[in-house]
Amino acid sequence: MCAIPDCPNPPARGPHCWGHLKRKQRRKPVHEALAEKYESPWHRFVEATIAYNDCNSEDDRAFERVRDNLRKSAMAYVESVIAKRNRA
Ligand SMILES: [Zn+2]
Repeated sequence: MCAIPDCPNPPARGPHCWGHLKRKQRRKPVHEALAEKYESPWHRFVEATIAYNDCNSEDDRAFERVRDNLRKSAMAYVESVIAKRNRA
């Protein structure tokens, strides 16, 4: 798990998850919990896409994790679009 206490995310490169790694790179306070939820499935998908793009593909396990997350977030987005359509 991520090196930040109480963070439930898997580590990306090194000891931190993608969210905390990004925070570190942006020189923002690292020792804080990340925002609980994404604004929307679309935002989640965008974040997953960025993580996928940034992933070091030489690390097979990290790449697999990021790719899996991208796939799941894409499915969640599609499902949210279908759900919205069915409500209309
Ligand atoms: Zn974290």
